[in-house]
Amino acid sequence: MILHFILGSCFGSFFCLIAQRIPINESILSPGSHCNHCQTRLAWYELIPLFSILWQNFHCRYCHSKLPISYFLAEVVCGALFSWHFYFYSWNLLLLFWISTAFLLSLMDIFYLLIDSLLLYLMWGILWLSWFLNASFHWKSVILVAFVMCLILFFAPRSLGIGDCLLLICWSGGLSLVSLAQLLFIASLLGVTYFVFYYVRYRKQLVQLPFIPFLTMGLIIVLSNK
Ligand SMILES: [Zn+2]
Repeated sequence: MILHFILGSCFGSFFCLIAQRIPINESILSPGSHCNHCQTRLAWYELIPLFSILWQNFHCRYCHSKLPISYFLAEVVCGALFSWHFYFYSWNLLLLFWISTAFLLSLMDIFYLLIDSLLLYLMWGILWLSWFLNASFHWKSVILVAFVMCLILFFAPRSLGIGDCLLLICWSGGLSLVSLAQLLFIASLLGVTYFVFYYVRYRKQLVQLPFIPFLTMGLIIVLSNK
C-alpha cells in the first residue's frame, strides 16, 4: 500500500507538470523543473515527491519565494488514488489508466478551465477500444448521454462546457445506466455544495466552476461501489 502511494505521488508530480505545460503549448521535457520566480533549475534532490517541498518548508532554496502548494496536493491526491486502486482492484491497468487520465484532466480544468483535446481523444480511443475488446461497452449509456448532451448544448449552452460533455460521452461507454446516474448525482451534489460554500466564504458568486474534478470524484465513488 505504501509503495503504491509513493508510485502514485511520483505520477502526481508528473501529471501536474503535464497539466501546467501542455495547455499553453510548452514542452514537458524542456526546460527542466525550475523555480518559477528565480528560474533556477532544481537539483535531483529537490524533485523528490512530497519530501523535497516539505523539507524546504514550501519555499525555494535560492530566492526563498513561496512554492505553489499545487504540486504537493497533486502528489498526495494521486498517491491516495493509486492506493485506492490497489485496495479495490489490485492491478487493473485499464482502470488505473482511466482514473489517472481523469485526474490529469481534472488538474488541467482546475489550472486553465479547459482540457487538451488531443489528450482527450487519445484517452477516448484507448478506453473505448478496450471496452469493445472486453465486451463491456455500454451502448445504451452512450446513446442516452450523447442525446442529453446535445439537448443541453442546444438549449442551455452556457450550463456545461463542451469538454465536460465530450468527457461524459467518453466515460459513459464504461458505465451502466445506474452507475452513470449515480456519478452524475454525486458530481452535481458536490459541485453545488462547493458553489454554495464559495458564496458563503467569499460573499460573491463563482463565475465558472471547473466541473471535471467533481466528475472524477463521482467516478471514483461509483467505482468503489462496484
Ligand atoms: Zn527561486
